[in-house]
Amino acid sequence: MNLGKRLMVASTNAGKVREICHELMTAGLTDWQVESLDRLLNYKPPDEDQPSFTGNAIIKAMAAARHTGQLCLADDSGLCVDGLGGRPGIHSARYAGNHASDADNNARLMAEIAPLTDDGRIAFYRCVIALALPNVLLAVFSGELAGRLISTPRGTGGFGYDPYFFLPDYGCTAAELPLEVKAKISHRGQAIRRAIKWLERYTVPAAA
Ligand code: IMP
Repeated sequence: MNLGKRLMVASTNAGKVREICHELMTAGLTDWQVESLDRLLNYKPPDEDQPSFTGNAIIKAMAAARHTGQLCLADDSGLCVDGLGGRPGIHSARYAGNHASDADNNARLMAEIAPLTDDGRIAFYRCVIALALPNVLLAVFSGELAGRLISTPRGTGGFGYDPYFFLPDYGCTAAELPLEVKAKISHRGQAIRRAIKWLERYTVPAAA
């Protein structure tokens, strides 16, 4: 199977697309043509109605591949908090309601974790990535990053819940990490590197 070197990243989340493109370039896929969904004016993404990150990543990748007719990569990711029984989980993007901003979601998260003990604030990010061609699911990969939630935001990098996601090993939040460091350790970085290894196996090597 030769998949060519054209990849549609099925997301309109600028933070995610930035991290995915960074990882593709770092992995040396500089000759790939990488596009993202915000270029497609008339595309309506599917409802994320599956009960798991994996299910949602798959329907996003399959729908985008069907629409574009090309190789698509979709991720579904979120924050799972121990003391909240794993919430917001698959609802992370819309925790404070449909079309909620990062600030809205963080405000709800802070209200919910306010009564929690240190143990309850242990959390992890999870990311599942699916690769699809039209009508063919090719492969699924995942990654996780463990941390602990704090109540006062720190840092301006990253996106989403990053200013509240503290990494004890680094002594800072995910929003204080440079992009390349976050990419190296993050749930999305792990999953995308696994996807890239897979993609490299199914593309024609550059001519010598
Ligand atoms: P999705 O677009 O349905 O996969 O939702 C992902 C949501 O999970 C984002 O909108 C963020 O709220 C949260 N999230 C996922 N990954 C990260 C991350 O690396 N940093 C911060 N928030 C994240």
